[in-house]
Amino acid sequence: MPRFRSILDTMPPYRPGKAVAAADGRSYKLSSNESPYDPLPSVVEAVAAGARQVNRYPDPAAVALTEAIAERFGVPAGHVALGAGSVTVAQQLFETVGEPGVEVVYAWRSFEAYPLLADLAGATSVRVPLAGEDHDLDAMAEAINDRTRMVFVCNPNNPTGTAIRRAELEAFLDRVPGDVLVVLDEAYREYVRDEDVPDGLTLYRDRPNVCVLRTFSKAYGLAGLRVGYLIGHEPVAEAVRKTMVPFAVNHLAQVAAVASLRAEGELLERVERVVKERTRVREALLAQGWTVPPTEANFVWLRLGERTLDFAAACAVEGVAVRPFAGEGARISIGDPEANDAFLTAAAAFRAQL
Ligand SMILES: *Cc1c(COP(=O)(O)O)cnc(C)c1O
Repeated sequence: MPRFRSILDTMPPYRPGKAVAAADGRSYKLSSNESPYDPLPSVVEAVAAGARQVNRYPDPAAVALTEAIAERFGVPAGHVALGAGSVTVAQQLFETVGEPGVEVVYAWRSFEAYPLLADLAGATSVRVPLAGEDHDLDAMAEAINDRTRMVFVCNPNNPTGTAIRRAELEAFLDRVPGDVLVVLDEAYREYVRDEDVPDGLTLYRDRPNVCVLRTFSKAYGLAGLRVGYLIGHEPVAEAVRKTMVPFAVNHLAQVAAVASLRAEGELLERVERVVKERTRVREALLAQGWTVPPTEANFVWLRLGERTLDFAAACAVEGVAVRPFAGEGARISIGDPEANDAFLTAAAAFRAQL
């Protein structure tokens, strides 16, 4: 038998959101925080045109996309680093710091990829339990020691949807030593409506050890093409570029992302519709008697404890796939109104028989 790294024996597999169908065939995928909308025609056109060049390798430096991102956010192009989805940029970040003995601090529960990436990079995960549904930033600051090289802050947090406000986040950043990299994972930034929740790009500018992760997968609706990016100071961006597998961001992803930035107005209108649905869904759940933490993302979180898997099964009967975390709770993405109604029907029925 070939011999593999022992860490592979203990790593839980990443579980992608599954699709389910009701008896009558209805199927609503609310398990992966995707955009419920088809890609914009202008984006499809850019991808179709780009298809004619796929015999060639993509631009390894993705110059057009890098410049478009830099221009959109008013940052130097040297501050931008790309990856095949922001989860891959996160992997690149773990590669930049990971080696035996190194610790990476993050909240738990948070984004499922963090523990896997830490294991793969040979780093030790230090998981700081959430306080209720929120990051416990005091405990996270206390968890930092000489071995700590990186801290992930997921804002808003996946899967609880809760967001950290400016004063609290700034106070935390002031406590982190300058040689520890803080990664603000803002995969859901476009859905944030609370004005007290800071845009990480306003925080990184005068903090060389702070960087921001963003993605085209969620609000921009390009999950299937895999493209995300980091914005950070030159040494951070440079380290992330060094750990990118050559040609990781393919040509179609590059042209689709550039076209999406051009069509941003249209895309953000769709985000606004999701935000309105988020309010409707949360209020309906509250009216049904559920406890629902305030959410700044495109999903809601129900802490169901031991009833989590039963709840997911009840939703599946209505054709609704949710993301259950056994023994903890379920994350439900905001979809189109029909999908959300199917979910609310399942939630009401489940609530009624508690
Ligand atoms: C979805 C998600 C990502 C990354 O998605 P990609 O498709 O890899 O860009 C990163 N962080 C969090 C917290 C997410 O929920």
